[in-house]
Amino acid sequence: MSHSLLTMSYIVAAILFILSLSGLSNPETSRRGNYYGMAGMAIAIIATAIAIAGAGNVYAVLIVAVLIGGTIGAILASRVAMTQMPELVAIMHSLVGMAAVLVGFANFMDSSINMTGSEKTIHEIEIYIGILIGAVTFSGSVIAFCKLSEKISGKPLLLPARHWFNLALLIGVFVLGGLFLQQTEGSEGSLPMLLLDHGGALPLLIMTLIALTFGVHMVMAIGGADMPVVVSMLNSYSGWAAAATGFMLSNDLLIVTGALVGSSGAILSYIMCRAMNRNFISVIAGGFGTASGGVAAAIEGEVQPIDADETASVLLAAKNIMIIPGYGMAVAQAQHTVYEITKFLREKGKKVRFGIHPVAGRMPGHMNVLLAEAKVPYDIVFEMEEVNEDFANVDVSIVIGANDIVNPSALDDPNSPIAGMPVLECWHGKTTIVLKRSMASGYAGVGNPLFVLENTRMLFGDANATMQAVLKALKG
Ligand code: NDP
Repeated sequence: MSHSLLTMSYIVAAILFILSLSGLSNPETSRRGNYYGMAGMAIAIIATAIAIAGAGNVYAVLIVAVLIGGTIGAILASRVAMTQMPELVAIMHSLVGMAAVLVGFANFMDSSINMTGSEKTIHEIEIYIGILIGAVTFSGSVIAFCKLSEKISGKPLLLPARHWFNLALLIGVFVLGGLFLQQTEGSEGSLPMLLLDHGGALPLLIMTLIALTFGVHMVMAIGGADMPVVVSMLNSYSGWAAAATGFMLSNDLLIVTGALVGSSGAILSYIMCRAMNRNFISVIAGGFGTASGGVAAAIEGEVQPIDADETASVLLAAKNIMIIPGYGMAVAQAQHTVYEITKFLREKGKKVRFGIHPVAGRMPGHMNVLLAEAKVPYDIVFEMEEVNEDFANVDVSIVIGANDIVNPSALDDPNSPIAGMPVLECWHGKTTIVLKRSMASGYAGVGNPLFVLENTRMLFGDANATMQAVLKALKG
């Protein structure tokens, strides 16, 4: 493929990626956005594959790699449950990080790259930064995967003097970077050779270990309720890792794509921080909201249960209904039944709206995806700030498998781990009905005083089963 044709294909792919991002920013155009993304990726892969033709056995290697990767991806994607999506995304980020590290080391050891002077120095800086970002992304994403899949506790690990520890790691990275550049002057050869003659491999390896440690420490120090920011931040890192890989491989499209992912992930992290009333730096430094060392207030009061028939009666008597979905709706896969109920109530002339908290579920936009899957019309789905002022006019709020996002202690208990996070203030409405299986706490591990408020009723059971019982009672 001629160079200009390759450049053309890359430009088309880059434009398709930009269109894809803009499509994905709105639920109504997100399907189109996905198609643009797929088309862009197909063009990118085909153009790159054709462009590297003629380099020996490259096609055989490429086909084997694509078959192995494609098969693993297809099996994983077809098996993954919607509730495991966030973990899958986290582990995918780790692969991008690992790729950047491997490409970095491969570039470092490649004796066929003959560069001199400033060109060589720039290439070495690219390698160093690429491996640095890649290693942080890799280990951070693996820990995020373990936390999201509850393989390790979501509680923050707060080492004493952790900020000094981070600072020491950062200084180490700079010092090693200087050493690396000094030692790489005029060196090439295999990794063991480079290790022996100090060809820069030793500082590079130590920096990789430091970066891996930093990634682990950074995510371990972040408490449950702040995890959404970590997920979007690692998304951003994976983009920068891809961009760094693009620099190392001199691949313009990878640089552009990486930068798009990196910057959109950074914007998303900012939006999540703002939505949760968190300071980005505090979240990344870890332990936000736990610094006060106080103990969250215990929940005292009596729970008032309700059954499906009574719930149906309350709904039939109501005019203005708010549905607040949370992670439990994803677990129960109750979205279709919820929409059946919504349709029924709307046909009876009731005003039914959905109030969506920005961190509901386990990934950004989790609830919107579920509601779109159930074909809930977008015009009755509202963001938190659009409905929060209006709860005084709401007759019934149905909280479906949500907990942290409707916890009043976020607003009135300064010792709560979620203190300061805006929540859906459903308790200002006439009645709140909470659907969950038990009195267990949510992701942040804190008790919820909403459950014992005078105007709250608890409908215990799996959200899909209870919603089906309510639907039956409504129709009966
Ligand atoms: P929570 O995790 O706070 O609460 C979910 C509730 O659902 C649980 O209390 C559970 O109670 C209930 N539940 C679970 N399964 C079922 C079921 N089958 N039927 C009925 N109820 C069920 O979820 P929220 O959505 O309220 O809040 C999200 C939390 O996750 C926040 O703390 C957020 O910070 C965090 N998070 C969000 C991410 C994001 O990007 N959105 C990423 C990572 C973390 P029970 O066991 O009693 O049924």
